[in-house]
Amino acid sequence: MKSEIEKQRSEGTDVKKADVLTMFSQSGALLEGHFLLTSGNHSNQYFQCAKVLQYPEYAKKLCDIIADHFRDKAIDVVIAPAIGGIVVGQEVARQLGVRSIFTERKEGAMQLRRGFEIKPGERVLVCEDVVTTGGSVFEVIDVVKKNGGMFMGVGFIVDRSGGSVRFPVANPSDQIACYTTEAVKFTPDECPLCESGSTPVKPGSR
Ligand code: ZN
Repeated sequence: MKSEIEKQRSEGTDVKKADVLTMFSQSGALLEGHFLLTSGNHSNQYFQCAKVLQYPEYAKKLCDIIADHFRDKAIDVVIAPAIGGIVVGQEVARQLGVRSIFTERKEGAMQLRRGFEIKPGERVLVCEDVVTTGGSVFEVIDVVKKNGGMFMGVGFIVDRSGGSVRFPVANPSDQIACYTTEAVKFTPDECPLCESGSTPVKPGSR
């Protein structure tokens, strides 16, 4: 049986799902090939979110889904992990009329730099472009909590986990993706593409 949030999500985004796919294919963001994912797994497809977000009109439409979802949550600041999440965070913040900040890794640890700060009690929305295992987002949530912010929810463009990634939100509806799909992935030693002699490339490296 589908959970309430799964039902809400599929009903609420079905109309938009086709639009989202159109935007992805029109901008060439749907890549086919042999890719090395951040998780270490290989895949025959990759969503290069940056390619769709290079068009401000598309960024506006996609981020509108997220901004709209959190409009009544009195968000004070939007935070995103660099680099992928920055454009999403900026556009969602613009639509909500609030600040936009981002975290960066220094010596492996996700942190606020550049004088960015979260004031204790501020209501913080976390944004990201693509989520597969959600690693970066979990780290950003930690940064929010360590700085005394109130973690209000998380919004991202593509959920590549098929909806299985769950962040520690107060209510299931405080997590939203514009598009949910299950990534086709293989472990390196079981990858049919490797077997056929090709070498995986890191998406975005070219
Ligand atoms: Zn492979």
